[in-house]
Amino acid sequence: MIPPAHRTLKFLGTAGARFAVSTQLRHSGGLVWSLDGATIWVDPGPGALVRALSSRPKVDPAKVDALVITHRHLDHAGDATAVVEAMTRGGFSPRGTLLAPRDALETEPVVFRYAQAFPARVGVLAPGVRHALAPGVTLETPVAHDHGVETYGYLLSAPGLRAGHVVDTFWMDALPEAYAGVDLLLVNTTRLRGGDRRYLHLGADDAERLVAAVRPRLAVLTHLGMQLPPRKADAAALEISRRTGVPTLAARDGWLLDLDDLPAAAARAGSRAPAADAGPAPEGGPAA
Ligand SMILES: [Zn+2]
Repeated sequence: MIPPAHRTLKFLGTAGARFAVSTQLRHSGGLVWSLDGATIWVDPGPGALVRALSSRPKVDPAKVDALVITHRHLDHAGDATAVVEAMTRGGFSPRGTLLAPRDALETEPVVFRYAQAFPARVGVLAPGVRHALAPGVTLETPVAHDHGVETYGYLLSAPGLRAGHVVDTFWMDALPEAYAGVDLLLVNTTRLRGGDRRYLHLGADDAERLVAAVRPRLAVLTHLGMQLPPRKADAAALEISRRTGVPTLAARDGWLLDLDDLPAAAARAGSRAPAADAGPAPEGGPAA
């Protein structure tokens, strides 16, 4: 008997913005969703291919079905061409889907132009556009974010699961409605406090406002910057859990989240201060 599909989300990297990435205090490999026949890699920053190949269990780029670049900043796209080459055996096996904003394909091609010919399909992310990635699995970009370059968060839908990922952005009043109704909400939480237009990133205060409005079954903070090293990020997530009543965790490099058992992860986001073993287990790399 074939066992039911096991659905997971792997955090190859949790680094947010320039300094966390350039120091590699956190990794910058992006996320890999494994959903009902679709493996989707989002935002492969510098080192992503190395992180995938050294990850346990290994992420095999040749089995990735879709590569999603949410915007053309280095920490989201530094390894994009490397991943496209690995997905397609250097272009000899055209396969998979590449999704990116138009300015990341044309104005500043973060996948080099020669390699944009390698995937079987290239799709352009745009407000309200939905892409089918596998039977029953769709990715939709509900709204353009406020981040200086063309940027999209996304909603992923699979049978029985709806997830949202609010990527880099300044706070927008449209965010709660755009990401409403999700079971799992990922929030790129780069700073402790938002509200500073020099950075165009969400703070933990913005993340709390969003989590309180959307009320997913589980919220996860990721894309964490220098103000949110692991223990501070855990504390910020715990505060959000306490104040909103929504279980919230801070991601760690290498964490494999079991999407078929969100309540187990939610239970860890409980009411006590996070001990070393209370959060997602780190995998190698720099310690907290
Ligand atoms: Zn960015």
